[in-house]
Amino acid sequence: MSLPRVKRVLLKLSGEVLMGDQQFGIDPAFVAELAKEVKAAKDSGLEICLVIGGGNIFRGMAGAAQGMDRAQADYMGMLATVMNALAMQNALEQLGVHTRVQSAVQMDTVCEPVIRRRAERHLEKGRVVIFAAGVGSPYFTTDSGAALRAAEMKCDALLKGTSVDGVYNADPKKDPTAVRFDKVSYDRVLADNLKVMDAAAVALCRDNEIPIVVFSIREKGNLAKVLAGEGVQTIVQKEA
Ligand code: UDP
Repeated sequence: MSLPRVKRVLLKLSGEVLMGDQQFGIDPAFVAELAKEVKAAKDSGLEICLVIGGGNIFRGMAGAAQGMDRAQADYMGMLATVMNALAMQNALEQLGVHTRVQSAVQMDTVCEPVIRRRAERHLEKGRVVIFAAGVGSPYFTTDSGAALRAAEMKCDALLKGTSVDGVYNADPKKDPTAVRFDKVSYDRVLADNLKVMDAAAVALCRDNEIPIVVFSIREKGNLAKVLAGEGVQTIVQKEA
């Protein structure tokens, strides 16, 4: 199963993948490996928007579970995504890839605010645009941020690079009979509550007909394979 031809993509990376083999935080060596994958995709002629989660540092839900105010904890989570964005920007620029970070929470001394027209211009000039801080509001996730920026930037697909190699009908870690889908519809994902992205993000992709490609970014060279229509992945789209 391969993707229709894509020119502009939004790549969403879970914060977790920046940890490498660590239990927490950022492993610069692993971020450098991820940056190589992004560079290869860019060198193949694609325009790339990036969104990186913050789960390797802080998740609002975890803070709330320990008694924090949820909105306050979510703002901390958003700040974590800015740290990850800056780490990725650093790694990409060390490879000679020009980048700009645009944050939904304004932070003028470290990055630009989100300005769609400016982001367009960056892409035209061959820069990778890293969107940080999700949608900029608590009670959302960076998956929703990714879906929102993919729609806003008119991306042809949302590529979700994570620790699992696709979408399963049950949790493969708990159920050995779980089966991975090659293709699955947005409606099935929502109705069966399949673990892809949160429902708000899936619904936004559905309403804007943006295919979601779920694949493992931990495997070296996999992003290029997925873009070439090879490799293991699940495509979430209108008709499955
Ligand atoms: N977050 C938020 N609003 C957003 C995006 C993120 O409040 O629009 C907060 C939320 O607390 C979330 C944290 O930032 O848990 C980190 O993002 P996420 O959990 O999406 O990261 P990932 O799971 O992709 O690493």
